[in-house]
Amino acid sequence: MLPLFRNYPALKEKLPHVPLGKFPTPVQKLERLGEKIGSDRLFIKRDDLSGELYGGNKVRKLEFILGQAREERAVEVLTFGFAGSNHALATAIYAKEVGLRSISMFLSQPNAEYVRRNLLMGSRVGAELHYYRNMFFIFWGTLFELVKHRFSSGRFPMVVPPGGSSSRGIIGFVNAAFELKEQVEAGKLPEPDLIYVALGTMGTAVGLVLGLKAAGLKTRVIPVRVVDRKYADARNMARLLNKVNGYLSGQDHSFPRFKFSEADTGIRHDYFGDDYALFTPAGMEAVVLMEECEGIKLEGTYTGKALACLMEETRKNRGRDQVILFWNTYNSRDYSPLISGVDYHCLPRGFHRYFEEEVQPLDPGYKKDI
Ligand SMILES: *Cc1c(COP(=O)(O)O)cnc(C)c1O
Repeated sequence: MLPLFRNYPALKEKLPHVPLGKFPTPVQKLERLGEKIGSDRLFIKRDDLSGELYGGNKVRKLEFILGQAREERAVEVLTFGFAGSNHALATAIYAKEVGLRSISMFLSQPNAEYVRRNLLMGSRVGAELHYYRNMFFIFWGTLFELVKHRFSSGRFPMVVPPGGSSSRGIIGFVNAAFELKEQVEAGKLPEPDLIYVALGTMGTAVGLVLGLKAAGLKTRVIPVRVVDRKYADARNMARLLNKVNGYLSGQDHSFPRFKFSEADTGIRHDYFGDDYALFTPAGMEAVVLMEECEGIKLEGTYTGKALACLMEETRKNRGRDQVILFWNTYNSRDYSPLISGVDYHCLPRGFHRYFEEEVQPLDPGYKKDI
């Protein structure tokens, strides 16, 4: 039984859920990294281990999204992302697990090794991948694909928003907060003062903020923005918090109704750098330090930037003796054996450039010609 349903049994009937991952994800103390940055109360939430096939934060969302797909008797799901999207890949992998086909609608992004891996794996699990040059083309392309699939499979595909941040998807992270509370009660970690997490389509942070408040924890979430401001800011985050809160208390009237304002969001804007998926020196330094100290692999688009913020603020607040939790949202399951035989030429033409052009300079796979 999910921790959220244990607390609000009426929700179990209303919100279909398919178990995909392995929960609770472990909590672990980061002794060596903590020592480096002056904290002896630093912990990590290992959502990178959330699924056996593929981990990361999207698994929790997909358990509810694919539950909804079943409820709607969908046979296909269609979703969006940038070319290296972890969300689109997680959707493709787990949709296949439950017998659904998936369609990924992609926009371009800076090149990196993980973009190549994710594209090959998407193709390996049979997702239909489409590349679009800009918003104009993806909009019309989406209408076209929806109609085309309506005719080829008899129904419209279920549309999943970017990042899986629909109300249903976000409930996965409301549940995660109740899961954390049970781990605190079981003595796995002290009640955190702060949780640092990357802020993309905002679903992860929104679910945690709402869930922690409903669960009665004093923990504050520090969302570190890693996408352009037009996708993530205090106004939109407060709006999303109130929307999901309204949705949940509408499903179960005993779920508390709060009123969130911009002041409840606490977004950090200074770690984004110049663009989405463009690695920053501070972000990559954080990635290297985590790997050296703890052997945990992060990446430069999301988790490196979030950890860079945690490191800087923890160093600055030395002596405050706060309990700090880093929420690892990145997948750490190695699927490279599955893609070793996949040739990128089987991908649509628009994706070939990710295999023919250099990755960006701070990427570990970067090699200079001379
Ligand atoms: C999608 C993703 C995020 C962002 O989560 P949101 O819920 O979209 O804010 C963070 N980290 C990783 C590794 C991701 O793939």
